[in-house]
Amino acid sequence: MSAPSTPSARPTPNGKTAMVIGAGPAGLMAAERLAGEGYGVTIYEGMPSAGRKFLMAGKSGLNITHGEDLETFLTRYGTSQARLESHLRKFGPDQIREWCAGLGVETFVGSSGRVFPTVMKASPLLRAWLRRLDGLGCVIHYRHYWTGWNDAGQAVFKTTDGDVTAQADITILALGGGSWKRLGSDGKWMEILTKAGIKCNPFKPANCGFDIDWTDHLIDKCAGSPVKAVTLTCGDQTIRGEFVISKTGIEGSAVYAISATLRDQWLETGVGTLTLDLCPDRTLEDVTNRLAKPRGKNSLGNHLRKTLGLDATKTALIFEVTPRDIQNDPAKLAAAIKNLKVKIKKPRPIEEAISTAGGVAWEELDDNFQLIKRPGTYCLGEMVDWEAPTGGYLLSGCLAPRTA
Ligand SMILES: Cc1cc2nc3c(=O)[nH]c(=O)nc-3n(C[C@H](O)[C@H](O)[C@H](O)COP(=O)(O)OP(=O)(O)OC[C@H]3O[C@@H](n4cnc5c(N)ncnc54)[C@H](O)[C@@H]3O)c2cc1C
Repeated sequence: MSAPSTPSARPTPNGKTAMVIGAGPAGLMAAERLAGEGYGVTIYEGMPSAGRKFLMAGKSGLNITHGEDLETFLTRYGTSQARLESHLRKFGPDQIREWCAGLGVETFVGSSGRVFPTVMKASPLLRAWLRRLDGLGCVIHYRHYWTGWNDAGQAVFKTTDGDVTAQADITILALGGGSWKRLGSDGKWMEILTKAGIKCNPFKPANCGFDIDWTDHLIDKCAGSPVKAVTLTCGDQTIRGEFVISKTGIEGSAVYAISATLRDQWLETGVGTLTLDLCPDRTLEDVTNRLAKPRGKNSLGNHLRKTLGLDATKTALIFEVTPRDIQNDPAKLAAAIKNLKVKIKKPRPIEEAISTAGGVAWEELDDNFQLIKRPGTYCLGEMVDWEAPTGGYLLSGCLAPRTA
């Protein structure tokens, strides 16, 4: 006996139907656009509610896009810029802010250039968005977990009442990346698409922390402490900002910003090294001269604080990674402070990453995100193999793509 099919959306102005699978930001935006074009839209979501990762993103302040000039903004998508650019030019930071305002949620540009809703949270935006979709006639079926296509080409969903099937004129897959599985995006779609002959690149953690073999002493003294006003260099990328020393290694905004380069270095060579400049506003000469001043009865820690303004965490970091003979030589110590080599063990597990790289390979998609091997089916959002740093670029990259 074949599985029963789900009820479809209300009658459609253009006589066509669309099925959107995945009710995260990418799926909900696709649903909004398609409903606006006259499609009868039905959304299927595996979880009992929509946008769980979006809501989680809002817990620490929903950074929805970035206020920098568009040309710089576009470069944040790295090797995927060419594929996303035309979409981001049509629906970029300005349009996202207008769209938020249209949903009754004003935004502001923070001091770092990041754009947030004034309420900071994601929930008012999500509530207003779901109301808008309802008004547009979109139907949402929760607890409908997509398990693939049957022989007749219908989508099959696991529900609490058994399997159901559905079909539509077009299908949008917006199933998310591979981190934070408990929020719904478990990445299992990759096996389904791979079996269907669609090339998917393995998930890699993005915007992630890294494990470092800290001594117990450093963990006791510094775990949870920020390292402020530093530059981090890996390969030819340098980031200025701050990060946090954790029990297992390092995390925080500057680490996330450099994480793709550091991860790839580690994947390619088996070794990952970060070079820190703990005094980025002073030249090596200045640091050397200051350290050469007589220390008197001061401990080295006090000397570093008095001459260079280094706090206890930076000092502990220096003691952690530099041998004692260097610590006792002002010139060598100055060089180490400007070029502190920190070896990472590995990236933190993918589950903890803010986002993932990997997913549906670009070569499988046309310019409108349609699967070339499966016309009528589109892949949007984090499930496509692009990555970007934190800073609102991830959500912007999920909200921009148009299927037509
Ligand atoms: C802690 C945290 C903070 C973040 N902060 C920010 C931020 O401030 N700014 C920013 O730009 N980005 C941020 N991100 C990243 C951003 O939330 C994601 O990139 C974005 O949610 C991806 O959108 P998506 O629609 O592609 O996927 P998702 O949001 O993951 O949505 C996919 C949906 O598909 C559903 N689904 C998956 N598989 C199936 C299936 N088989 N059947 C049915 N449904 C299925 C899932 O349940 C989910 O609802 C953050 C992420 C995390 C984890």
